Amino acid sequence: MTLNLWNTDPDVARAVHQETRRQVETLEMIASENFVSEAVLEAQGSVLTNKYAEGYPGKRYYGGCEHVDVTEELARQRACKLFKADHANVQPHSGASANIAAYYSIIKHDAKLMALSLDHGGHLTHGHKVNFSGKHFQVVHYGVDPKTERLDYKAIQDMAREAKPDILVTGYSAYPRAIDFAPFREIADELGIKFMVDMAHFAGIVAAGLHQNPCQYADIVTTTTHKTLRGPRGGLILCKEELAKAIDRSIFPGFQGGPLEHVVAAKAVAFGEALKPEFKTYIEQVLKNARTLAEVLVEGGLRLVSGGTDNHLLLVDLTPKGLTGAIAEEALETAGVTCNKNAIPFDPKPPAVTSGIRLGTPALTTRGMKEAEMRTIGGLILDVFKAPEDQAHLQKIRQQVKELTDQFPIYADRLEKSRAPETVA
Ligand SMILES: *Cc1c(COP(=O)(O)O)cnc(C)c1O
Repeated sequence: MTLNLWNTDPDVARAVHQETRRQVETLEMIASENFVSEAVLEAQGSVLTNKYAEGYPGKRYYGGCEHVDVTEELARQRACKLFKADHANVQPHSGASANIAAYYSIIKHDAKLMALSLDHGGHLTHGHKVNFSGKHFQVVHYGVDPKTERLDYKAIQDMAREAKPDILVTGYSAYPRAIDFAPFREIADELGIKFMVDMAHFAGIVAAGLHQNPCQYADIVTTTTHKTLRGPRGGLILCKEELAKAIDRSIFPGFQGGPLEHVVAAKAVAFGEALKPEFKTYIEQVLKNARTLAEVLVEGGLRLVSGGTDNHLLLVDLTPKGLTGAIAEEALETAGVTCNKNAIPFDPKPPAVTSGIRLGTPALTTRGMKEAEMRTIGGLILDVFKAPEDQAHLQKIRQQVKELTDQFPIYADRLEKSRAPETVA
């Protein structure tokens, strides 16, 4: 299958093969990652990548768009059905592109944006100073309550009344709890401002009907398509009919040129998969797995931010073990467990060190792992933390990881076909 690549460019072919191996042979616990289906990969690897299609289905600036019109229209309709939205724009190249376009469809340069701060679980594009959103808007950030480590809706209301933002935003990259959108809607109505939800992390849970649907509360909903939603890497914007034109214009010609029609087709496939009953079963298992892993880690003496999880992710405070996020991330990686260091709310350590790690269950669940495997994996993680600098100890755990991943194969065919052919040394 990758013969052409091996013949043309063995350096790239080798790296692709090794990355395939890494994905197959390690435990992928980065909360924002997942494994897409072969169907999604096929659509994304199709000749649709060759097509220019500036504009929207039926109104393009190029000829020859009749087939990409079909795939883009399918993606739009399926997204609307999945999230009960009036309108969908499936062209954003990423979650960040979706957010830029969404903001500028309703607010102007220098407007005031209020959102969850990055160090309490928000995202860079929610007003962080190194990001366009922090440079081009005035920003007020809310955080979580120091005791409960959860959103305090009353405090958010007080802050909003005081700050009078032009747009109120919620959504997270590292917050282990469900969000109630109703209080945000009330605040926005009271102040006469717009309310936007960035559901990048939990879109899959919404699609499965296991989280409040932000489309029923917010003026605009943005998301990535590659996290719990399990589609290709990309973005999506959903909105009410009134904002449809403004959103579409903001994406094209506002911020983007030609859409990535191969990715749009892959989004259509992924949305189709998410509309099936199996997807709900999958997300139910993602949530059960997160809860089981949480129990094991707490029993093993770790502290979880907010005491547990309602969703697919856990924010682990390593302070009780005397470890930092940086040390834990590196030790886990050596042992074959991939995750990321993450600040915990009110973290005394700098962002390059941190007191925590973020763990997620979406990718492991796609491989078919269930509660029993989560207990095993929780045990392996606790084992790593017993001697995080003992390389022989970590290698032994890596062997156990390999035995586990062998029992839950993924991309087996792809791994085989990405190997170097006999003719390449
Ligand atoms: C992941 C994420 C994004 C950004 O997505 P990219 O595709 O990496 O640009 C935006 N917002 C939130 C809340 C996220 O978690």
